[in-house]
Amino acid sequence: MNNIYPPKVTYNKIPKKEEKKMKSILENEIGKTYNHLTILSLDEDKKQEQINRGVKYPRSYFKCQCDCGNICSIRTDSVKNGHSTSCGCAKIKAASEQGKKSLIDLTGKTFGKLIVLERDKEYNGTHVK
Ligand SMILES: [Zn+2]
Repeated sequence: MNNIYPPKVTYNKIPKKEEKKMKSILENEIGKTYNHLTILSLDEDKKQEQINRGVKYPRSYFKCQCDCGNICSIRTDSVKNGHSTSCGCAKIKAASEQGKKSLIDLTGKTFGKLIVLERDKEYNGTHVK
């Protein structure tokens, strides 16, 4: 008795029905805001571009408007899981805030014969007068 057949598995094809369902789930997100990003639409061009490049499993992208006004395409999962919170501007802002915080205030301290008067504002760096 050998009537056990291995289950037939197809890996590389998402059934049309499933794809439609996924798409409608994503379309439900349109108009929602995640962090700095407001979802404008599904970016079909981005998907098509991947297909044209021969990408087997093209990712879905949202066209988003960032708080700063930039419009960008970001992967749907990155938007939803908070991996991408902005077009990239928030990261830059956070880095510069972090940089400011990590500057040690040396005003009034003496180094040998040098006295720190103030931070040189003309230099947006770590130079001191
Ligand atoms: Zn931005």
